[in-house]
Amino acid sequence: TDADPPLLKLLNAQKDILKSPAKGDCVVYWMRMEDLRVSDNRALAQASAKAHQEQIPLITLFVLSPQDYLAHDRGARRIDFTLRNLENIKASLARLHIPLYITSHSPRTSLPAYVHTLLKEWNSSHLFANIEYEVDELRRDIKVCELAHKDGKVASIFVHDKCVISPGEVRTKEGRGYTVYSPFLRAWLPQVEGFSLREDERAKMTICWPAGEDVAKQMLDRFLHTSARTSQLGATDPLADGAKAPSKSPDKESRVGKYKDARDRVDADTTSRLSPYLAAGVISARECIRATLELSRSGKVDASRETGVGRWVQEIAWRDFYMHVLALFPRVSMGRPFQEKFAVVRWETNAHLQAWKDGRTGVPIVDAAMRQAREMGWMHNRVRMVSAMFLAKDLMIDWRLGEKHFMEVLIDGDLASNNGGWQWSASTGVKADPTGDYIRRFVPELAKVRGADIHKPPPALADKLGYPRPLVKHEEARERAIRRYKNPGAE
Ligand code: FAD
Repeated sequence: TDADPPLLKLLNAQKDILKSPAKGDCVVYWMRMEDLRVSDNRALAQASAKAHQEQIPLITLFVLSPQDYLAHDRGARRIDFTLRNLENIKASLARLHIPLYITSHSPRTSLPAYVHTLLKEWNSSHLFANIEYEVDELRRDIKVCELAHKDGKVASIFVHDKCVISPGEVRTKEGRGYTVYSPFLRAWLPQVEGFSLREDERAKMTICWPAGEDVAKQMLDRFLHTSARTSQLGATDPLADGAKAPSKSPDKESRVGKYKDARDRVDADTTSRLSPYLAAGVISARECIRATLELSRSGKVDASRETGVGRWVQEIAWRDFYMHVLALFPRVSMGRPFQEKFAVVRWETNAHLQAWKDGRTGVPIVDAAMRQAREMGWMHNRVRMVSAMFLAKDLMIDWRLGEKHFMEVLIDGDLASNNGGWQWSASTGVKADPTGDYIRRFVPELAKVRGADIHKPPPALADKLGYPRPLVKHEEARERAIRRYKNPGAE
């Protein structure tokens, strides 16, 4: 009977665990034999987040348990493969400054007590592990939970990781697990589709960002040889304005020609919009540089600040810069701030994060940006900075949550540039949407608002139009941010 399988018992045992133990000296991630990876590893990710939150180190524990291998008939090839992979994992973790502690224990019956003793010796406050669904393993983990509960010092958290859809999440109408494959597949597929794009989303993205190297080259031509039209703002088809047959003579009217002065204008389509193609490697950055060389009469890469081409080359250099930073300082991608002193800044946790994601902060430029991201999967650089700064400074919400959201919604999501953008975004002062057209395009509630009100709708007007009041008062928020960033431990 599946009335009370060990999996349920383990999940129930977890409900009793200590939710917030006293701060310990470390967080432990217990890596199991089928967990041999760093990426997309839920227990590791959660352990890492907890260690970061508590400001204590993360240790990875691996316990070789020869009796388990025998019990599961694991052959020498399989064991050897595990050991070889462990070597790699050790190196990957070392690059992230996470030690891997490999140990061995027999008999298997006392493994829970052994692990528990280790946790006590290390004064660990949290243990994270991915669930192993084999019965013996589940019983072992239940025991670990019980010991932790009795002791009252450590929270042990076991998470679903191994399957696409977690066991228990697809059930028959009667609420039982499936025992026949075909009906299981029918129930499983719709859930799996959550990992792919919905059809309507896909259609929208296909129009905004057609695939293919040819398209990327046309986009490059469009940028180098055609002029910007405000009507193209947030255009659905980026190639609709005739870039398919660009004139080959660059002039001052071309997008690149005007780039130096116009690149910060979000109310016009002035930049290359090549980022999705560059991020996916559909076009190389070298090809972009080569094309600028062709435009340069001197035959040199023109990176002087005086021309549009020069400015654009500098943007390409930003992309390289962040990639270099990531390659040389991998900790930046593990949720660590580049400036370590900011690791202890106190962040707010409230519903404002969702309002920010939904573009309902009451600050029109931020809301337009966030809605553009939802609609097009892309944002202009200037408004990426504005909305990033707004989250981290005005709302005082952990920037890593914003970084994660950007990766989820942006079609050009690139770990290095995104992380760099979030960490290095410095100022938001430039007037990016002087006409207000950008806000009108993406915040339809304000479509009919004219003049300065578009940037700061008076409360009565906002109420009438169904537009939210600002979540925070900018001056107060500014002071709070200055206080907390100046003295990162401060309230
Ligand atoms: P253009 O102005 O035409 O620039 C040409 C190319 O240069 C871009 O396609 C891009 O590859 C590179 N580039 C331009 N500006 C930057 C920059 N500041 N940093 C790094 N590379 C740059 N860019 C991404 O590709 N992916 C991201 O996930 C991403 N996240 C960001 C998050 C934040 C908070 C910020 C502030 C910036 C982020 N950027 C990211 C950088 C930049 O906003 C985009 O590359 C740019 O807006 C793309 O538009 P474009 O192709 O028209 O750029």
